[in-house]
Amino acid sequence: MTAEPGTRVLQADGAAIAAAAAYLKAGGLVAFPTETVYGLGANALDAEAVARIFIAKGRPPNDPIIVHIHDLAQFYLVAQHPSAVALRLAERFWPGALTLVLKRRPLIPANVSAGLDTVAVRMPSGSIIRALLKAAQIPIAAPSANTFSRPSATTAAHVLEDLDGKIDYLLDGGAAEMGLESTVLDLTGEVPTVLRPGAITIEELRIVIPDVAHKQQMID
Ligand code: AMP
Ligand code: MG
Repeated sequence: MTAEPGTRVLQADGAAIAAAAAYLKAGGLVAFPTETVYGLGANALDAEAVARIFIAKGRPPNDPIIVHIHDLAQFYLVAQHPSAVALRLAERFWPGALTLVLKRRPLIPANVSAGLDTVAVRMPSGSIIRALLKAAQIPIAAPSANTFSRPSATTAAHVLEDLDGKIDYLLDGGAAEMGLESTVLDLTGEVPTVLRPGAITIEELRIVIPDVAHKQQMID
């Protein structure tokens, strides 16, 4: 696989993951596989780094980005007062393809959440993103690694088609296992509401939370 000057494609081994983690901490953009799709990540605590994601993707600033975490300590860092329901869902589905929307803590810059007072959080299970989160020791804001309005990238080749030359590092870890995005569940209202259907089905959610509503919305 060849890349334009500027985008370094690295096989996602230990050395490449360590280099990518250091680069993320320094404010850079890195694309990587998760178990759902490929993500385009930046330090979720760094507003300038996050702003570069919107530019690289051509993503409108009113479209919020999911924050990826390594462990529950980071959950408490980014989200305010996770409820008992949130913790039950986390216990059942994390690490995995469920994204929870909760109140945002001020540590997370407003642009991550497109100015909303909420934050979408997920603890992914993919081994490469988990290793990257562990090495970087920061939450990573990451939408899918494709140009806005294009299908979510599921291979390194897809990422390059859209973002070649616009990002500095691409960790190639083969095809994303599921090829389906995470389910986004909003826990900030009275009834938990699915904002985006995804890899975890409503039936699976109902086992933990019998009362769950569903709302269709436009997504990229
Ligand atoms: P992407 O990761 O690019 O596929 O898109 C992430 C999607 O997650 C967004 O388009 C929203 O649908 C949803 N999302 C992220 N953050 C929030 C939030 N704070 N509130 C509601 N939905 C969110
Ligand atoms: Mg997307």
